[in-house]
Amino acid sequence: MTFMHTPEFRRREQLRRNQTHCHAGHPLTPHNTREEVCTRNGREYTLRICKACERQRHRQKKRASGR
Ligand SMILES: [Zn+2]
Repeated sequence: MTFMHTPEFRRREQLRRNQTHCHAGHPLTPHNTREEVCTRNGREYTLRICKACERQRHRQKKRASGR
């Protein structure tokens, strides 16, 4: 039994689905998010990815590697 099968995880998943903002505070609108399907342990998950965060991560990565 893994954490993923516990009621606690289900509760958190529900919360995540009802989220209106990402952890960084960007609004999770259809325009600002994209969905990505990933498979783990034979189960499919739909991840909602915040585009603003993605862009920010991209920028940080660039800055970290560029000299
Ligand atoms: Zn974000």
